[in-house]
Amino acid sequence: MKVTDHIKKAKGETLFSFEIIPPKKGNSIQELYNNIDPLMEFKPPFIDVTTSREEYVYIEKEGLLDRKITRMRPGTVGICAAIKHKYDVDTVPHVLCGGFTKEETEYLLVDCHYLGIENVMALRGDAMSHQKYFEASNGGHLYASQLVDQIQNLNKGKYLHDVIETNHKADFCIGVAGYPEKHIEAPSLQTDLKRLKEKVDRGADYVVTQMFFDNDKYFAFVEAAKKAGITVPIIPGIKPIAVKRHLQLLPQVFKIDLPEDLIQAVESCKNNKEVRQVGVEWCIQQSKELQAAGVPVLHYYSMGKSDNIKAIASAIF
Ligand code: FAD
Repeated sequence: MKVTDHIKKAKGETLFSFEIIPPKKGNSIQELYNNIDPLMEFKPPFIDVTTSREEYVYIEKEGLLDRKITRMRPGTVGICAAIKHKYDVDTVPHVLCGGFTKEETEYLLVDCHYLGIENVMALRGDAMSHQKYFEASNGGHLYASQLVDQIQNLNKGKYLHDVIETNHKADFCIGVAGYPEKHIEAPSLQTDLKRLKEKVDRGADYVVTQMFFDNDKYFAFVEAAKKAGITVPIIPGIKPIAVKRHLQLLPQVFKIDLPEDLIQAVESCKNNKEVRQVGVEWCIQQSKELQAAGVPVLHYYSMGKSDNIKAIASAIF
């Protein structure tokens, strides 16, 4: 079922969902299941599975460094199918522009269709670590809006290069990313909103936000999005702080601000066990306020560990 249909069916009740990351290649999927199992009692209607960008690795060979390209956490679509089959839950693979040609994206979407996956998140991806700016893959998309176009074309039965006659139209529900504190590369929040509106106008059905720790930022973003003419559901994505290092890491990677009270509470912790507890309590307060405001879904970034998400969900759902 589509994410938007789950939201309609809930008739205003806030749903629970979460995002997981595939295991590093060479690892069993069992650990992932061990972290999903405790969250299934909260009846997530859908689970997101991220896609990692490819990266360079350097292998020493006869005194020289040989550069190879690899994806450390492959298997997004396979994991989506496995979870769907095991738990009878909808899954949402994240589909990236970065690292994929349009043809590879088409094959991936065809796989999704055969596997009964009805939702996809259309994302650009970040620049690779050696790149200053994002670069499209050979013949790939430069912006998520172009990926939305490609998915919408499949929804109209239009495949690449028009070389085949089709008798089937895909019917993907498309999610896109939104940034309450603006995307790092956007010159202003207003311009970023204009770009978000382009994604919606081109066929995105819902938005999931970047993480935020101050709900006022989300509420202001939703208001501004409405004013900009964006009427699709805007799902808040939130994450509990888990280690002290997050105080530097999260602003650096995601260009988000942390509230002063939260910083002080984390700084006064003696160890990361205490930080994890502070993170859970903060996230519970955030969740309660967002739920009271009637958000359609509370979407948690689990980063593959579920104990803290379970503690939060137990207090909310
Ligand atoms: P876009 O919407 O393409 O926007 C990127 C930038 O370009 C923005 O600054 C925008 O304002 C600007 N822009 C857009 N269109 C134009 C235009 N026509 N002209 C000029 N500028 C334009 N990353 C991963 O690698 N894997 C994941 O699984 C993943 N999941 C995510 C899930 C969520 C909910 C979120 C919020 C982010 C996720 N990301 C993931 C991170 C995401 O890939 C990065 O934030 C990336 O830098 C931007 O992706 P986007 O889809 O928002 O890009």
